[in-house]
Amino acid sequence: MNSKAFYSLSYGVYIVSTWDNGRPTGCTANCAAQITSNPATVMVSINKDNFTNSCIRDCGYFAISVLSETSDPSIIGTFGFRSGKDFDKFSQVSYAIKDKMPVLEDCCAYIACKVIDTMDTSTHTVFLGEVIGADTVQNATPMTYSYYHNVIKGKTAKNSPTYQADENEPQVSANKYVCPVCNYVYDGNTPFEELPDDWVCPICGAPKKVFQKR
Ligand code: FE
Repeated sequence: MNSKAFYSLSYGVYIVSTWDNGRPTGCTANCAAQITSNPATVMVSINKDNFTNSCIRDCGYFAISVLSETSDPSIIGTFGFRSGKDFDKFSQVSYAIKDKMPVLEDCCAYIACKVIDTMDTSTHTVFLGEVIGADTVQNATPMTYSYYHNVIKGKTAKNSPTYQADENEPQVSANKYVCPVCNYVYDGNTPFEELPDDWVCPICGAPKKVFQKR
């Protein structure tokens, strides 16, 4: 099997949100799709190790905020590289309650769903949701997963359904600085050493001081 073939599939970048006993929580996801139009249903695939997975099971509802090319990339790190179990991710972003679900303001559209079925796989739960509300939020181009990789230089979290270990190992030439949390490789015009001390990883928010020279 040539797993490079999987790179031919197209994905977006989403924040899948739900409620944890009245507190909003969620995670970054790249695997979501519309399954039927009438009634409208969509699916998302969420790792069983993600706190969001158990929250969706308990709550019975989820929402998908569709990130755009202009969305702040740090949202992906806030929701993708930390656990909502002990960290209030929504305290880091602007959001609104739409169709009774927490939805990011910095996105191009949202879709709110009631869970009507689930499918267990080895590592992920596929949640099938009947759409209870949806709307556009900002007039912007949806972020594709290839845009996230090629333009933002983001990496795939280990919990993603599309994670491949070799792809995530950064291909770094000498003297590049790498984020140990999300594997982001700094390649800005300003030499890394000259960045201000309060500079943080644009993907996951890790502080400058933890970056490692390769
Ligand atoms: Fe990072």
